[in-house]
Amino acid sequence: MDQNVRAVVIVGGGQAGARTAKSLRAIGYDGALTLIGAENHSPYERPDLSKACLLDAAAMPPSVIDAAFCTEQRIALITARQACAIDRQQRDVLLDDGTQHPYDRLVLATGCKPRRLSLAGLDSRRVFYLRTLDDARALRPRLQPGSSIVIVGGGFIGLEVAAGAQALGCQVSVLEAAPVLLPRLGSTIASEKVLDHHRRAGIDIRLDTRIAYVDGTRLVLSTGEAIKAETIVAGIGVIPDTALAEAAGLAVDDGILTNEFGETSDRSILAAGDVTRHFNPLLQRHLRLESWQNANLQPEAVARTIMGERVAYAEIPWLWSDQGDLNLQAAGAPAQVDMTVQRGGDSTGVSIFQFACGALVGGITINRGKDMPVIRRLLRQAQPIDDPEALADDSKPLRAFLRAGAAS
Ligand SMILES: Cc1cc2nc3c(=O)[nH]c(=O)nc-3n(C[C@H](O)[C@H](O)[C@H](O)COP(=O)(O)OP(=O)(O)OC[C@H]3O[C@@H](n4cnc5c(N)ncnc54)[C@H](O)[C@@H]3O)c2cc1C
Repeated sequence: MDQNVRAVVIVGGGQAGARTAKSLRAIGYDGALTLIGAENHSPYERPDLSKACLLDAAAMPPSVIDAAFCTEQRIALITARQACAIDRQQRDVLLDDGTQHPYDRLVLATGCKPRRLSLAGLDSRRVFYLRTLDDARALRPRLQPGSSIVIVGGGFIGLEVAAGAQALGCQVSVLEAAPVLLPRLGSTIASEKVLDHHRRAGIDIRLDTRIAYVDGTRLVLSTGEAIKAETIVAGIGVIPDTALAEAAGLAVDDGILTNEFGETSDRSILAAGDVTRHFNPLLQRHLRLESWQNANLQPEAVARTIMGERVAYAEIPWLWSDQGDLNLQAAGAPAQVDMTVQRGGDSTGVSIFQFACGALVGGITINRGKDMPVIRRLLRQAQPIDDPEALADDSKPLRAFLRAGAAS
């Protein structure tokens, strides 16, 4: 352990910040540890906010660390406070209550903020976002049977909210500006299957469609049609919250730039979670991810770096999305795809294998999660698959495509 590290300050009380604190204590860091979060809650995991917490108003998202754990582990948890400046010379962080928090190592885990919907005439009291527990609590009472809910954005959050609102008996429309749902997946097959699933469930999904203008509680669309919208949920993406890092002069480019050890352009400042654009040594490029996996595991590497061990964060990216009874999982981060192989069918669920220049670069499962552990191993083994077309043969076990000794 680096004996010079006696005070660690973490800014961002989300999953990545809390996991960094937890990992530091788990691997033996014994010095002062402060975790600062702007929300009025102890750190919790967000995925349930667009799933269980919408279906059941009383449901609580899983906690990452709570006040009792912090007391026991000597973690000074400060909630409902914003860090507003970093003094890199003095090595301290200034909070909005005027207090200063000196550090030997600072970790920025400030996450993302929802992109705001900007439209003339829009009554902001009818527009909702979903990032925090407070957002979920504000949205939940609007999801009454028969009420009209328009979701702007056919990405993961939008479709999860759509499925939840539909299950609660709302009249749900989804507006997606792109010609496909989930455009970032890079798979037309997956996008079409998801579209078909939700349309069969009765959700009105409109592709290639934007809001042209607002007319009271009606939205006039780019197609010329008008739809009623008592509630609008904007799921139009997120923006990494880099304000603090930028003001401190750290290197930022669509996220705080970090190496594979979580270090920023200032070696005494590290970063973790959604806010990072980090170097992935397996893929040999920088990635910005918005996923539970990244917020959960990247902090372990950051904690080890602080402790003087240099263990790179090297994971094949993976995420899941539950949209009613549709489970979608995606692994890899394909920059381009030139060949696709499909395994399974409507009754068994589908796995989609994405190739670029002969190499497997991504995999997607739709209601076929059993394939995902092997897909992740295939991606990690990074060796050519001899006969990619044979992946379509459901009678051949997927494990047969693994090389002997492939990483698990
Ligand atoms: C509704 C929802 C559903 C999701 N579902 C899934 C899923 O099914 N599967 C999946 O893989 N991923 C899912 N995710 C993504 C996953 O939850 C995120 O990737 C993860 O929460 C990122 O954690 P983070 O700690 O990096 O950032 P965040 O969760 O954004 O936390 C950052 C925290 O830092 C605080 N902060 C920011 N600036 C300051 C400051 N200056 N001072 C103090 N505090 C500050 C913020 O208030 C926030 O609490 C979902 C996300 C959401 C929002």
